[in-house]
Amino acid sequence: MITRRGMMAGVAAGGATLALAKFSLAGMKLDFSLPKLPYAVDALEPHIDAQTMTIHHTKHHQAYIDKLTAALKEGAPEWMNKPIEEIVVNYKTLPDSIRMAVRNHGGGHYNHSLFWTMMAPAKVAGAPSESVAKAIEGAFQSMDEFKKALAAKATGQFGSGWAWLVMDKAKKLSVLSTANQDNPITDGLVPLLGIDVWEHAYYLKYQNKRADYIQAWFNVINWNRVNELFDAANK
Ligand code: MN
Repeated sequence: MITRRGMMAGVAAGGATLALAKFSLAGMKLDFSLPKLPYAVDALEPHIDAQTMTIHHTKHHQAYIDKLTAALKEGAPEWMNKPIEEIVVNYKTLPDSIRMAVRNHGGGHYNHSLFWTMMAPAKVAGAPSESVAKAIEGAFQSMDEFKKALAAKATGQFGSGWAWLVMDKAKKLSVLSTANQDNPITDGLVPLLGIDVWEHAYYLKYQNKRADYIQAWFNVINWNRVNELFDAANK
């Protein structure tokens, strides 16, 4: 759905019209408060343990929000009213003194808000819709090859970052990784699925074995959410 807010943000962002107009988080409202987890903290056990989930959500995500808020208050209080997508896409226009803080913490707030919704317990996670399955098979040959490609990006990301399934302006799917809290919408791409590969996302349970975390994470993908984001991006 192309909202007035999305269109205005798209104009402000120059090249990012598609991402903002089409993405719109499929109905999810984002502001400067910590979004509730859409499941219990232990709902993704054994793949994602409750302690990691609790710390990740209430400490790490909250810290991104607090630091984003502090930076904007200090250097661009008029931005406090902007939707988070718009802040993330336009951070380069901010003053030097807060630009990096907004890039990191604004990205952190945005990415984690998405991330919680991209996971779900198996009984409510659904399966890829016919159109999502077709698009994935078209881009990667098969679901297995897609998982291998995403896992390779997630494993290969040096240091902290994310791996993503994205849709580009031509509606083509691909996988990529981003460093730190950078994210696809800054480049005009629509994220359909993303995995956090910061050590804070897995270290308590998986220690140095990032590859094991990634394989386990494939069990908690919320395909209903991927389907929803895919449909929103295709409208
Ligand atoms: Mn994280």
